[in-house]
Amino acid sequence: MSLLDRIHGAAIRTGFALWYGWQPYGRHTAFLERSQWWPWPQLEEYQTAKLRALLTQAYANIPFYRQRFDEVGLCPAAVHAPADLIGLPVLTKAEIQDHGENLLARNVDRRRLHQDHTGGSTGHPLAFYQDAGYTAWCNADKLRCYRLAGYRLGQRWAFLWGSDYDAQAHKGHRGQLADRLVYNTLWIDTFDLDVEMLAAAARQLARWRPRILVAYVSSAVLLARLVQERGIVNVLPHAIQTSAEVLTPDDRRLLEEAFGCPIFDRYGCREVGNIAHECSAHQGLHVLAENNLLELLDEADQPVPPGQPGRVVVTNLNNHAMPLIRYETGDMAVASAQPCTCGRGLPLLESVVGRVSDLITSPSGRLLHGEFFTHLFYKTRGVRQFRVIQETRHDLLIELVPGPGFDQATTCNLVEQGIQQHGDPAFRVRFELHEHLAPSASGKYQFTISRVPHL
Ligand SMILES: [Zn+2]
Repeated sequence: MSLLDRIHGAAIRTGFALWYGWQPYGRHTAFLERSQWWPWPQLEEYQTAKLRALLTQAYANIPFYRQRFDEVGLCPAAVHAPADLIGLPVLTKAEIQDHGENLLARNVDRRRLHQDHTGGSTGHPLAFYQDAGYTAWCNADKLRCYRLAGYRLGQRWAFLWGSDYDAQAHKGHRGQLADRLVYNTLWIDTFDLDVEMLAAAARQLARWRPRILVAYVSSAVLLARLVQERGIVNVLPHAIQTSAEVLTPDDRRLLEEAFGCPIFDRYGCREVGNIAHECSAHQGLHVLAENNLLELLDEADQPVPPGQPGRVVVTNLNNHAMPLIRYETGDMAVASAQPCTCGRGLPLLESVVGRVSDLITSPSGRLLHGEFFTHLFYKTRGVRQFRVIQETRHDLLIELVPGPGFDQATTCNLVEQGIQQHGDPAFRVRFELHEHLAPSASGKYQFTISRVPHL
C-alpha cells in the first residue's frame, strides 16, 4: 500500500468516525460489537424485549395485526420468549401483496419512510416501507458483517454486484468520483456478465488490490474459473464476502483455491436486511439475533430441530412502520446444535440450503436440492456454468455454457447417468448449449429452477 493510499484511508476513517459520532448507526455498531459476545440467555432476553415492543406497536396501530393476534389469542405484553409466537400464522409474500399499505402503522409519518422493492427472482414483486430506526440498525449490522470479514472502513474494497437497483448510485462521473474518493470502492456491475466483461473485471481487480471483495456467489465463481483457466495470479483480495445466492461447499473450495483467501458467507434479504454471517472460525453463519428473530419451521409450522432443514421465517425487530412478523422468506436453512468456538453468543446456522424454489422434486417424490447437481458436475471438464430447469415432473432441461476442454458427449453422458442413477431413473434429460446464461430480473443467478409444485 502506497503512502498516498494510507493517507487517503486514514482521512476516510477519520471522516466516517466523526460522522458516526452523531449518527445513530455509529452507536448501534458499537453496541453490536459488544452484544455479540454476550451469553445466549442475555441476547435472548434483549431480543424478546425488542420483540415485545414490536408486537405492542403492531397491535396498537395496525388493524391487520390486531385481528391476527386476536384470532389466536396472542397478547403482546404476555410474550416472554420467541416460542410464544408459535400458533401465529406466518406472513406470506402473497399477503403483503394483497394487504400492501394496510400493513403500515397509523402512527408513523409516511413521508419519512424509505420504500424498497424485491421479488424479481421469486415471482412475487413486493413493495415495502422501512423507517429510520430500521435503516440505522440495518446499516450497523452491515458494518458488523464487514468487520467480521476483517474489513475496516477506509480500506480499499470492491464489489462484484449484480443488482441493477444497487448499481444506480455508482453510475456516472459523480458516482465513480464518490466511490473513489469518499468510499474507496471499486464497483463492478456484474448484471448479465459475459466472458470478456469478466476478463475486464479481473484486470480491474488486479490493479485495485482490494482488502475485501464483496460478491454475488455466481459472479465470484465465474471469475474464479476464468482466473484459473487463464492463469491470472494477481487477483488477491484478503477476504471475499459472498452473498445473494447459495454458496455450496464446492464453490467455496473453488474460490479459496482461485483467490487464496478465506470466504465469509452472508445471508440476508432486502426485506429484513442481514440475517446471518460467518466469523473467522468458519463453523457456520452466526444469526444476527439482536435485529432479526429467526425461526426454522417444518411444513406444519412447527420448529425443526438442529441438523434438519427448515423454512426460514424471520421477524425483523426494528421496523415499527411496517413490521414483518413471522415473514416467510422462501429460503431453507439448517441450524447448528453447537455453539461457535469463537465465543460469540450468537447462535449458528450450519448452512443456508437454498430457496424453496431451488428444490427439484423427482418423479418418485424425492426432494433434490441444488447441491445434488453441483456434485454431478464435479467430475466434468470445461463446463463454465450450468442451470437445471425442471420443466415437468419428468423433464429436466440442463443448460450449459462450455469453456476450454469441454467434450459434449462425455459431459452429457456423465451427467445424465448421474441423474438417473443417483436422482431418479424416471427423469428424462435434455441439454442445451449457450454462450452465457442470463440471470433473473434481480440479477440473482439460480442454478436450479423448478416449474413444478413440490409434492
Ligand atoms: Zn463464531
